[in-house]
Amino acid sequence: MVKLKSNGQIDKIRESCRLLVATLGELREIVQPGITTRDIDQAARKIIKSFGGRPAFLGYMGFPAAICTSVNEEVIHGIPNKKRLKNGDIVSIDCGIEYDGFFSDSALTVPVGRIRPEIERLMRVTYESLILGIEAAKFGNRMNDISRAIFEHNRAEGYGIVHEYCGHGVGFEIHEEPQVPNYVGRGPNPRLKSGMVLAIEPMINLGGDDVDVLDDDWTVVTSDRSISAHFEHTIAITREGTEILTPWDSEDLPFQTEAKPEAGVNTDQNVTKTL
Ligand code: MG
Ligand code: MG
Repeated sequence: MVKLKSNGQIDKIRESCRLLVATLGELREIVQPGITTRDIDQAARKIIKSFGGRPAFLGYMGFPAAICTSVNEEVIHGIPNKKRLKNGDIVSIDCGIEYDGFFSDSALTVPVGRIRPEIERLMRVTYESLILGIEAAKFGNRMNDISRAIFEHNRAEGYGIVHEYCGHGVGFEIHEEPQVPNYVGRGPNPRLKSGMVLAIEPMINLGGDDVDVLDDDWTVVTSDRSISAHFEHTIAITREGTEILTPWDSEDLPFQTEAKPEAGVNTDQNVTKTL
């Protein structure tokens, strides 16, 4: 069942999201060649604790870290480890926070040093598809409008689109109904209602669609071991408009893009600066 949120509850989720934006802002700053993903995880634990929040992923179904760090061909759910990041890698940092009983979820892919143009393009197109998906996430539209916007933008580039994992409702828990697929399938296609809070998260590959799970039972990798990018925002849909609740600074992304959220999508960047 989809649990709609009241304006007061969205206010609480926004607070959780504000801490998450500040956390991701600090984490992306420390990414550089030589650092390990465990270093990033340790920093995340400290930052979230200092804000009075709780890392929502830590212990979730047994996950052993505060963040997922997925490097290069790793798509999602990578477990932080002691391997050093190298110049030219990319690392997706995915984080969820519980604050005062309310949950937030956001991810971004960060370059390590200088990356190849084709990887930069993959990141740009993945990010643009997130913004297009959010623009389609309007009160009165349907789920497939989001899915189609994401799918078509990436397919036009010939990229692989992960089908096995998808976005989701969020707020009262880290994962709630409904599912937000990155492709149009035969599943449910609910109308988007006022009070829906969704995590939208395209996972896009330079190669094919298919993915495998490694022996650690967590790390999802592309089957052809091609590079994969992942961007995720928590958004709130109301009659008044759709708001990105996790508006981390998109000016710092390593690519130029025309994709700007259109009117009605509140990206109030000021929230990132008050913490
Ligand atoms: Mg996430
Ligand atoms: Mg998510």
